[in-house]
Amino acid sequence: MKMIPLIDLKKQYSLIENRIKERVCSVLDSGQYVMGPEVEALEKRLAEYVGVKHCITCSSGTDALVMSLMAKGIGEGDVVLTTPFTFIATAEAVSLLGATPVFVDVDPETFNIDVKKLELAIRALEEKDSEIYPLPDIALQADKKVKGIIAVDIFGLPSDYDEINKLADQYGLFVIEDAAQSFGAEYKGKKAGSLAGVGCTSFFPAKPLGCYGDGGAIFCDDDQLAEQLKSIRVHGQGSDKYQNVRVGLTARLDAMQAAIVDIKLDIFDEELEKRQRVTKKYEACLSESDIQCPVVGDGYLSAWAQYTLRAKDEAHRDNCVAALQRESVGHAIYYPIPLYKQKVYEYLGYQDSDFPVSYSLSKRVFSVPMHPYLADADIESVAKVIGG
Ligand SMILES: *Cc1c(COP(=O)(O)O)cnc(C)c1O
Repeated sequence: MKMIPLIDLKKQYSLIENRIKERVCSVLDSGQYVMGPEVEALEKRLAEYVGVKHCITCSSGTDALVMSLMAKGIGEGDVVLTTPFTFIATAEAVSLLGATPVFVDVDPETFNIDVKKLELAIRALEEKDSEIYPLPDIALQADKKVKGIIAVDIFGLPSDYDEINKLADQYGLFVIEDAAQSFGAEYKGKKAGSLAGVGCTSFFPAKPLGCYGDGGAIFCDDDQLAEQLKSIRVHGQGSDKYQNVRVGLTARLDAMQAAIVDIKLDIFDEELEKRQRVTKKYEACLSESDIQCPVVGDGYLSAWAQYTLRAKDEAHRDNCVAALQRESVGHAIYYPIPLYKQKVYEYLGYQDSDFPVSYSLSKRVFSVPMHPYLADADIESVAKVIGG
């Protein structure tokens, strides 16, 4: 069988190659390589697309999260809630600033944060009582205070923000949307990135809207927050470059990556539609199999960063993965080790029984090829390999 890649960026490149070369050359000719007019124009366009007042581009999705947490004043003694079924960067941003991530299990159908458990976890933190929800001992210390939530739109599907924002308001917490995988997705008619007080996305090449290097962006409506983020992006600069009012980073986007994102944005909506078509085809091909396809509820549109299937159990998953391997079909397991089990988070002292859903998913999920240019015949082949 011919090889079918998990994500085919070369196919997309072949469609936009001329425009990319032209624009990258014009950036080279311009002499303006970091920030500048390309970046400003892109920020304006992205803010409009997402439906927010401000877009602050930056050097990566991880830096977008770090900058947002910095703007919220997060540091030692603070607790931030998130899920263990995500890419390491989500929790890493919290840890980098010296704060403590506390994990909340996910919903078995959406893979996103379970809002009922989120409320229990907030109450457990407020009352310092791990009978209400499993907490690491460190979060029970008197000086630890819960400040916010990072909700993740995993695999491109938004979390349930009406419920999350309501809870956050009730308990005085901030919400950051980790939209690294969900640019273009929708929740109740609004775009991902605009669904919480702050939205963070990534332009890493494999994300739904990718550049050809590292890049990211932050979205918000709050003028003051936007100013803080712009300052943090450039060493905490004040009204001019050599005046520094806070501790910041070097976290700018460069002009070449901005030009590339701009070109890809021209074809992005078309690609989003093509991704929906791919999922319909997978659903049809796998409807008679014992593999569960992802579920997207009413009022949601996924950006399909990944197409993640659920096998019956670990042995079934291992068989599927072995078959994909044998037939040269691109595949991956997102995520084989939930964050609470990662060595870096051993100190939190969590156990598998604290996160039954994330644990079970880590044994059952696997992701199959997903990109806008996946041919029907290839989808049929992939489905056949795994029993469809
Ligand atoms: C990719 C990703 C990030 C980090 O983005 P980078 O641009 O790679 O730094 C953060 N959160 C999630 C959920 C991601 O998938």
